[in-house]
Amino acid sequence: MHILKRTKILAGVGPATNSHEKIEQMFDAGVNGYRMNFSHGTYEERDRQIEWIREVSKRKGRPVAIVEDLQGPKVRLGVLNDNHQEVKKGDILTLDSAAEHNGLTLPMQYNLAEKVKVSERIYLFDGKIRTHVTEIVSATAVNVEVENDGFLMSKKGVNLPDTDFGGDIITPKDIKDIEYGATKDIDYVALSFIQSAEDIQNLRQLLVSNGSAAHVIAKIETRAAIQDGVLEEVVKVSDGVMVARGDLAPEVGLEMVPVIQQKIVALCRKHGKLSIIATQMMSSMVDNPEPTRAEVSDVATAVIQGADAVMLSDETANGMYPIETIDAMRKTILYTQENTGVARLDDALFVDKKMPIRHAISHAAVSLASEINAVAIIAETKSGATAANIGAWRPNLPIISVTSEPRSAQQLALSFANRSFIRPDNTEVGYELAKELAERNFFELDKPFNVVIVSGLQPGKVGGTDTIKVRTIE
Ligand code: PEP
Repeated sequence: MHILKRTKILAGVGPATNSHEKIEQMFDAGVNGYRMNFSHGTYEERDRQIEWIREVSKRKGRPVAIVEDLQGPKVRLGVLNDNHQEVKKGDILTLDSAAEHNGLTLPMQYNLAEKVKVSERIYLFDGKIRTHVTEIVSATAVNVEVENDGFLMSKKGVNLPDTDFGGDIITPKDIKDIEYGATKDIDYVALSFIQSAEDIQNLRQLLVSNGSAAHVIAKIETRAAIQDGVLEEVVKVSDGVMVARGDLAPEVGLEMVPVIQQKIVALCRKHGKLSIIATQMMSSMVDNPEPTRAEVSDVATAVIQGADAVMLSDETANGMYPIETIDAMRKTILYTQENTGVARLDDALFVDKKMPIRHAISHAAVSLASEINAVAIIAETKSGATAANIGAWRPNLPIISVTSEPRSAQQLALSFANRSFIRPDNTEVGYELAKELAERNFFELDKPFNVVIVSGLQPGKVGGTDTIKVRTIE
């Protein structure tokens, strides 16, 4: 039988994959979604990449997601003379967004003076140099005291683990990027450095006012976002959550990241939200043709935890072996899913009081499919919510979703176990698709076999799911 991978691959597009040919190779290697990191690249490049992705996906008949990843308040050092500055414990540095590099005065790409307070910690060079604020010197500059010896380089990341942005994290650049994305075929918009549910609601409002139907992904990478009471609220108001381990590590301490990852995936499963594990999953493959044992184990862990998707960033955006990396990831996912299941969830799935029928139907469909040994659950869906809800139960068989909405099909491409098809609304669309797939030998399985079809009486109605059927395909 043809095995579909249930944990999906989201892969970055960048200089290493900036061609029609590479986009197609990524697709063939098993990518389900393409991530565009708006910290880099030009709109002209993004225009072309979006066109290539949609062309390949349409020609090959498999919808894929495009994720626009907004930079958010990413703080970076500016350009340093000779790209280098030694620092020693006890040094006082002036971090100034209006200055050039001059000795211990360092240029910043972001005005910290408007945000930080005295005694708050500021980590430079992605956490390698630790400092704390001693003085707000001017409208553009703050002084910090260095706590350890080391050196700094141009444009390196800066983390502010104690700073409260007070709901003001969307930058003028993000707004420009949102306006751009709203005119393009974008399925998800991810926001970096969110601190609260309010940040997500602000992004959603901006998307709506720009006419975008994109779903919203919260990137968890700040200390504020992981606080008790905050994290679950963020999960509830988002469509998906990314464990952005790159910046999360310097913000909270490396040793905390695995436990936070486990907690986020469990919360996403509980609330039926998309979960994505990101950063350094196979980073040694940026310049090696094989992953390390630890990296393979990291991907397998995400599969066992039941994440919807695992992400490649530098590996496919800048690495020497982008296609080999996707291949290694796909093999790891397939072996793991076929040889050990997704871990059970301790918490019961959250029942949306407005949608108790959908919840019960999706649960019933999953147990029915398992009892009769069905080859797939077919979900007739409009917004994609029914198919995603079935996926929340983490069935160990494919969810074939069929929708008349390309946007829903593309968004579902990242959802656990989902494979989406775009077909016009019709009362028998699920059954017809099952027969078509059988004719195409999609499942590579001898007939007869059973499928479970979840549908609504009125095709195309959002929230109308009320029927489960079993069909034998002969
Ligand atoms: C991360 O920090 O892990 C992340 C995904 O964000 P970015 O790649 O934008 O830094």
